[in-house]
Amino acid sequence: MNSSVIDLVATEARFGAQNYEPIGVVLSRGEGVWVWDTDGNRYLDCLSAYSAVSQGHCHPKILAAMVEQAQRLTLTSRAFHNDQLALFYEEIAALTGSHKVLPMNSGAEAVESAIKSVRKWGYEVKGVPDGQAEIIVCANNFHGRTLGIVGFSTDPETRTHFGPFAPGFKIIPFGDAAALENAITSNTVAFLVEPIQGEAGVIIPPAGYFTEVRELCTANNVMLVLDEIQTGLGRTGKLLAEQHEGIEADVTLLGKALSGGFYPVSAVLSNNEVLGTLRPGQHGSTFGGNPLACAVARAAIRVLVEEGMIENAARQGARFLEGLKDIRANTIREVRGRGLMLAVELHPEAGRARRYCEALQGKGILAKDTHEHTIRIAPPLVITSDQVDWALERLATTLTQDLS
Ligand SMILES: *Cc1c(COP(=O)(O)O)cnc(C)c1O
Repeated sequence: MNSSVIDLVATEARFGAQNYEPIGVVLSRGEGVWVWDTDGNRYLDCLSAYSAVSQGHCHPKILAAMVEQAQRLTLTSRAFHNDQLALFYEEIAALTGSHKVLPMNSGAEAVESAIKSVRKWGYEVKGVPDGQAEIIVCANNFHGRTLGIVGFSTDPETRTHFGPFAPGFKIIPFGDAAALENAITSNTVAFLVEPIQGEAGVIIPPAGYFTEVRELCTANNVMLVLDEIQTGLGRTGKLLAEQHEGIEADVTLLGKALSGGFYPVSAVLSNNEVLGTLRPGQHGSTFGGNPLACAVARAAIRVLVEEGMIENAARQGARFLEGLKDIRANTIREVRGRGLMLAVELHPEAGRARRYCEALQGKGILAKDTHEHTIRIAPPLVITSDQVDWALERLATTLTQDLS
């Protein structure tokens, strides 16, 4: 790093809350799958901002929509109508087969909004006694960072010294349908779960799990809330990860790639019943559903579909997974993934995954470790076969090194 870059890193450390530990690269430009640092070095982005830039960095059509809208109207608040919101609703509902949409900003806000909505549904439709609603969640979940959400996390780092937390959540193991059956009571309003646990290290549940989950939720009048903030919008090779399981959620949460990385946009999608319980004044957001967000999201979902990114994620994801499985390295414990949501889990003796991510940076690849021993790989969905092969070559040479 040159001296001005070292200055930027030091200035961040001096003034910023130290709630992240970034890899030592300062990025200043991006295009498609590539990002450049301030020295002009190019990297293949294998994190995609945790899947928020699935459409690739600075996608020209999303950029054009953003600039065009920013010049006309950015924010009205929901006190007035704007000419983009209805079109966003119509397009996202048609794409996903949803009946009602609630626009928010961050992913965590979508999760919080879903929790409020299913509780309200529980009291007003299901008939749960006031204050008794229960929501079942899974161990090792990641649903965001607000107080309500970290209160039902099982990760000590996420929770410690942030309490007291709100009651009303039950935690069961992920991938265990019998545990769900045992946890449901007459006060259970929802089961909130990720189709594939992302932050936990790309954990794919056993085949058939979600079929059973769907049946249990239906049989017990429990709303199935799928957090597709990371898995949704093509990441796993289908529009929604639920499609791999042949099921439909009652409530689906989207965020991240909903804006292609330009702007925070999230949404709660539901059947008529759940979001239908919200009346004027009972929930809101100053920025939620603003015309700039809607115009950006409309462009982001349009290019995802029109440019075949979902099919490409399936095709390149299969190629990437196969290539990773072909790497013969003593450091690798397991390779897993669906579509372009991939992970390489290292043997604990191989050393920290971060060391390998730093070595990959030296070879022109940016990837992120998670939970000490796992490297996650999630490039933009516009990646080509040649770029996959290029990445695999570098991963193979890095992973066959011993960096313990
Ligand atoms: C990232 C993420 C969230 C939180 O989104 P933010 O925009 O960071 O609040 C929630 N759920 C899942 C599954 C995520 O991956």
